[in-house]
Amino acid sequence: MKTESNPKVMKILNEYAGGHRHLITVGRILAAVSAFMGLVPFYDLWKIIRIAVKGEELSKIAGIAWQAVGITVAALLVYIAALMCTHIAAFRVQANMRSRLMRRILTLPLGVFDEDGTGKIRRTVNESTAATESFIAHNLPDKAVAAATPVGLLILLGAFNWKLGLICLIPALIGFCFMMSMMGKGMQEKMAEYQNALDTMSSEATEYVRGVPVVKVFGQSVHSFRRFKEAIDGYSKWVTAYTLMLRMPMTMFMTCINAVFAFLVLGAYVLSKGSVTSEMILNVMYYIIVTPLLTVTLTKIAYSGEQEMVVVDALKRMDSILDIQPLAEAKKAELPKDNSVELKNVSFKYKDSADYAVKDLNIKIGSGEHIALVGPSGGGKTTTAELIARFFDVTEGSVFIGGADIRNIPQEELMKQVSFVFQDSRLLKASILENVRLARPEATEAEVMQALETAQCMDIIEKLPQGIHTVIGAKGIYLSGGEQQRISIARAILKNAPIIILDEATAFADPDNENKVQAAFGELAKGRTVIMIAHRLSTVVNTNCIYVLKDGSVCEQGSHSELMEQNGLYRQMFDEYSRSINWKVGA
Ligand code: ADP
Ligand code: MG
Repeated sequence: MKTESNPKVMKILNEYAGGHRHLITVGRILAAVSAFMGLVPFYDLWKIIRIAVKGEELSKIAGIAWQAVGITVAALLVYIAALMCTHIAAFRVQANMRSRLMRRILTLPLGVFDEDGTGKIRRTVNESTAATESFIAHNLPDKAVAAATPVGLLILLGAFNWKLGLICLIPALIGFCFMMSMMGKGMQEKMAEYQNALDTMSSEATEYVRGVPVVKVFGQSVHSFRRFKEAIDGYSKWVTAYTLMLRMPMTMFMTCINAVFAFLVLGAYVLSKGSVTSEMILNVMYYIIVTPLLTVTLTKIAYSGEQEMVVVDALKRMDSILDIQPLAEAKKAELPKDNSVELKNVSFKYKDSADYAVKDLNIKIGSGEHIALVGPSGGGKTTTAELIARFFDVTEGSVFIGGADIRNIPQEELMKQVSFVFQDSRLLKASILENVRLARPEATEAEVMQALETAQCMDIIEKLPQGIHTVIGAKGIYLSGGEQQRISIARAILKNAPIIILDEATAFADPDNENKVQAAFGELAKGRTVIMIAHRLSTVVNTNCIYVLKDGSVCEQGSHSELMEQNGLYRQMFDEYSRSINWKVGA
């Protein structure tokens, strides 16, 4: 049984609280004081009952009652003060946690956000810190109350008649033993299992809801979602087994702590030995009134362990972010001399994966040259492009920009050099103006308009209700893939970085859109070094060099005409591509 918090958790929380840690202590002490004060009215009650039973000095009752009211109000005020202390500390801890996490996140390789999912990171930053906040603000003072009340009760119970007090404690002690036996059975692991079962069920439920149209169209039942059903069955089996395991100890615990009065009546009967005094009646009545308080406190203590497990889990999840290796610091700062890019013997392996995603790449791109990366899916195109923007650090070899190893170029400088236009354009739920201006926050509205115009976005702006102030993703505002990509091209134009990496969108809604994206990209590419991941081979014909990536290595390289002559994989892909174009035109 843990009325006191796990010392390790408190140590970590105190570290986050910094100078505010004393507020947590003060808050807990005040909460305990208020708990003691809250017991005084019970003493007053005893006095009142005594007066009533004796039938003397009845006029004193009102005074005692008012004193009880006064002290109850005072106890409440002290409790409020306690909560204020713990809340201030809790908000400070939450803020410190968030800023520590965010500072760490800023140093992480960009690729981590693709790998781990931004959703998971956001949830940890928001929810784990929030769980800690409510733990410090509410649970810690409540625990102090829960710990102080039994002590105060013990004093009260002993003060009037220690024999009766002892009798009250017997069932409480037995109940405690049962509770200990419940807690001993690997509760923390059980909690984790429970959480996992819930997670599986909720992710399967999401899949199920996504699949509902299919189920309806094909007249299937829930049983077609075997995994969803298995998740539910698994959960229900787990919960049933767990409940059965706890049935006996829980029943015994509840019975014991609710049966205090039965022990009292029996005890009083034995103690009185048949001769009932008014003093005895007074004490038994008093104990019967007070003992429910004991029951309530014990139940509270029984459940308070759960909150702490939530916090332990939250701290673990935060650690999983803090444990990610940040990008290595530069040994010496270097600045690029021009806009050339070179990959020298570059190999890269994703974390936790056995095989290299790219192996022994050697690619040289002169200032202002345009190259294309083509090849089958999974060949390593995206990985190569991301290595150039230092989304990850290479496992072996080096990437140079303007002759400088990118590991030595300050992060900010590197970001100024390279623009990335993603395949999925990653627009934020903000106005078009704000989305484009992300590239250069100090840009004027006129400059943003200019960039949008160059990126062929005017038709998009015109059809939107509030022009560039329309919020993307708001109700009823939808942009097609090609339109979104044009807006990200406008963003890259505004940023005006000399090196552009473009992951071309694979599908366009219509040829008009496709032509506009091509034109926008043509504008962006002018005078810049370009690395293009091309899915439509018509766009690569005029590049300086084409690299065909297969299984992580370059298997062919050269200009379009050279590669066509080689009659290898590129030729095969191009012929297939031409056929599909003709087929489309024919259709
Ligand atoms: P392409 O863009 O040519 O389709 P990718 O660069 O995306 O190829 O992938 C190259 C290889 O790296 C593939 O085998 C792929 O499965 C693997 N890969 C890609 N992303 C990850 C990742 N985040 N974690 C582990 N492996 C990955
Ligand atoms: Mg790809």
